[in-house]
Amino acid sequence: MTIKAYEDDNIFAKIIAGDLPCHKIYEDDKTLAFMDIMPQAKGHVLVIPKQKAVELSQLEPEYASAVLMTAKKVMAAQRKVFQREGIIQMQLNGAEAGQTVFHYHVHLIPSNFHELGQHATTQADMAELAEQAKQLKEAIEAA
Ligand code: AMP
Repeated sequence: MTIKAYEDDNIFAKIIAGDLPCHKIYEDDKTLAFMDIMPQAKGHVLVIPKQKAVELSQLEPEYASAVLMTAKKVMAAQRKVFQREGIIQMQLNGAEAGQTVFHYHVHLIPSNFHELGQHATTQADMAELAEQAKQLKEAIEAA
């Protein structure tokens, strides 16, 4: 089984490099968290490592751990801001699984599994995403 090679010009690599904008909510030396622009529910966030990894099998332990630590911060903020108990943690490995961006990322989606919207389909209102990002960023900073 061959895994897709990492491409340096993928969308998330460009976001890490600052060459593409994002609605950032948190950043540290190993991770970045930002709003998904085609959310499957209100408050859908992506957490990515600053490591060149297409999928889980390529993720180095220190980055795997850093992504999960950031995911915990994001999840606590989502609960506070959106008042949802249910936070879906999702991560797709390989095109067959539905992966569309080939830089490892964890989805954190405040939702009920049975109410989840379609994957990567409808672009959100940018002003709404900016407001949600602001609220989540403030909640993380206040924690
Ligand atoms: P996946 O299909 O698991 O690889 O998920 C990729 C996710 O990235 C989808 O949920 C898309 O909506 C999201 N996405 C694609 N382009 C961008 C972008 N420029 N900024 C934020 N999210 C994006």
